[in-house]
Amino acid sequence: MKILVIEDEDKISEIVKAYLQREGYAVVLARDGETALDVLKDGFDLIILDLMLPDMAGEEICEMIRRDSDIPIIMLTAKSDEEDRVRGLGIGADDYVVKPFSPRELVARVKALMRRTKGTKKTYSFNNADLVIDTERHEVMKAGRVITLTPTEFKILNTIAERPGQVFTRLQLVNTILGYDFEGYDRTIDAHIKNIRHKIEDDPRRPEYIKTVYGVGYKFIGQLDED
Ligand code: CA
Repeated sequence: MKILVIEDEDKISEIVKAYLQREGYAVVLARDGETALDVLKDGFDLIILDLMLPDMAGEEICEMIRRDSDIPIIMLTAKSDEEDRVRGLGIGADDYVVKPFSPRELVARVKALMRRTKGTKKTYSFNNADLVIDTERHEVMKAGRVITLTPTEFKILNTIAERPGQVFTRLQLVNTILGYDFEGYDRTIDAHIKNIRHKIEDDPRRPEYIKTVYGVGYKFIGQLDED
């Protein structure tokens, strides 16, 4: 398992590197965006991305990576504001760690994210094969075409689609994707749902798959196809 750490503060990146190596991960460090984008083609299993870099904004790098990759991304940032978190997750990060953070917590997040991007096995098909979720290959097809979801988006969709009709609260979904409750995180679910809808709904304003249950959360309303 290979991790790319994009961070310009050597003190932080060296500590992160030491902790990750202790857990058996191979770690490559990049001190700026240009270097990061350059080494990215070597192939990584996960990216840890600082938002404040000397040459580029982390958000910009995240968006560039997301154009052709669903590699898991954890953002590191001093911005603890909820708006910034929602924005970070909205542009495709899978998790968010606010500085100052404990290296142990970061390692725990890395492990959790690695775990949940692996998935189980099975294929679900809905609305006469309009939407197909392949949990083994981690692929989603909409109207016969493969669409790209981030690991977190996939996890949310898979979780609610496994139980059509059941209402999930935001906090339940946070727990499902992170493996623990984190109150400050629940608004970010809305950002993920919005992104998923744009990818799988013909008209996101009139969803046929993910319905908002006002004041509660979300439920999946697609019709499971008979085998
Ligand atoms: Ca920095």
